[in-house]
Amino acid sequence: MKRIAVVGSTGSIGTQTLDIIAHNPDRFRATVLTAGRNVDLLIKQAIHFRPNLAVIDDAGAYPRLKEALTPLGIATACGHEALADAMEREDVDTVVTATVGYSGLEPTIRAIRAGKDIALANKETLVVAGMLITALLKESGSRIYPVDSEHSAIYQCLAGEDRSTVERLIITASGGPFLNMPASGLEHVTASQALKHPNWRMGAKITIDSATMLNKAFEIIEARWLFDIDAEHISALVHPQSIVHSMVEFKDGAIKAQLGTPDMHLPIRYALGEGSRLTSQRPPLTLAQMSNLTFSEPDTNRFPCLTLAHTALRRGGNSACVINAANEIANEAFRNGQIGFNDIYRIITKTLSRVSFIQQPSYADLVDSNADARAYALEESHS
Ligand code: NDP
Repeated sequence: MKRIAVVGSTGSIGTQTLDIIAHNPDRFRATVLTAGRNVDLLIKQAIHFRPNLAVIDDAGAYPRLKEALTPLGIATACGHEALADAMEREDVDTVVTATVGYSGLEPTIRAIRAGKDIALANKETLVVAGMLITALLKESGSRIYPVDSEHSAIYQCLAGEDRSTVERLIITASGGPFLNMPASGLEHVTASQALKHPNWRMGAKITIDSATMLNKAFEIIEARWLFDIDAEHISALVHPQSIVHSMVEFKDGAIKAQLGTPDMHLPIRYALGEGSRLTSQRPPLTLAQMSNLTFSEPDTNRFPCLTLAHTALRRGGNSACVINAANEIANEAFRNGQIGFNDIYRIITKTLSRVSFIQQPSYADLVDSNADARAYALEESHS
């Protein structure tokens, strides 16, 4: 029985993780559930899954959580410190990091330091602090299992292979809702258009990141740290059908791909199973119904955010942390209708040029860089 903390249980990945736990009661038990603000759903989940602890970030929602769960013998807590503390509990073996953005960093670090395994959905953790996380994993012996579908695909393609024979990781990209829109149109797109992803139902922040293709840049950075491979050997390839989840090219010319329906249950299941295959309850992919699988190079003129992966990895240091922070502000400002779609890239690059570069950032340096970048990006998004 594996005991699981689901960090961000009320979100898109969190709820799908709980589906899988519900279907495998002999293998998994949710011992800790955490949410940001959605107290109603957290209470409902806690009544159903009976964790030992439920944590909410929002102090205003805490009295309701406590009142609802204390009579059931479920402990409750509130705030980001309580969330980070929960990662060290004895009754947790694996932490599913399904919170969004920078908020995933501290709980993940605390979990790794406590020797817990990580099923990593929160890609921002590796974007912000890839080098630090990699060093911590080596120290603690914790293992990290990718939840992101592209990285799960690569992980599956690499199973049983000699890593020294890998030539290239090819990360597929749907291209998002504006794949075929001319540059002149992108200037005027709205948040509600950007939130209509053609293939995936995801949280709002990642859906906007998919539309700008910054999500793909983040995935290149994530892959660099997860698979310990140079950025020059990782590329993105547009594949609008989202059936081929990613590929690995080997030195002998062979390319291995992992295919499936656009459904996060498979990669979550594979991560929770630590690379073993649990039975699916979902409809399988029927290739005979797929008349058209297409591939093309991404257009970095229309989607310049994609170039930020190689910018960040070439510069190193705190660059990716700054890009992530600026994007969190710009992404939210775009969703609130305060800035245009193309302003997101402008704000990120402007912020990157303003925040002091640190070659070997400590955790404290990353905390400061994140705060500085947010302040600059906020200023920029109001100018
Ligand atoms: P959602 O926005 O749907 O869910 C985010 C979850 O995190 C919610 O439970 C939310 O709580 C909680 N949360 C948000 N902010 C905080 C905070 N400050 N403190 C504590 N909890 C917080 O996001 P997704 O599930 O879409 O994405 C989660 C992560 O997984 C992201 O990093 C994303 O990039 C990655 N990912 C997602 C995929 C997907 O298909 N959705 C695919 C691949 C990766 P509440 O709702 O209660 O406020």
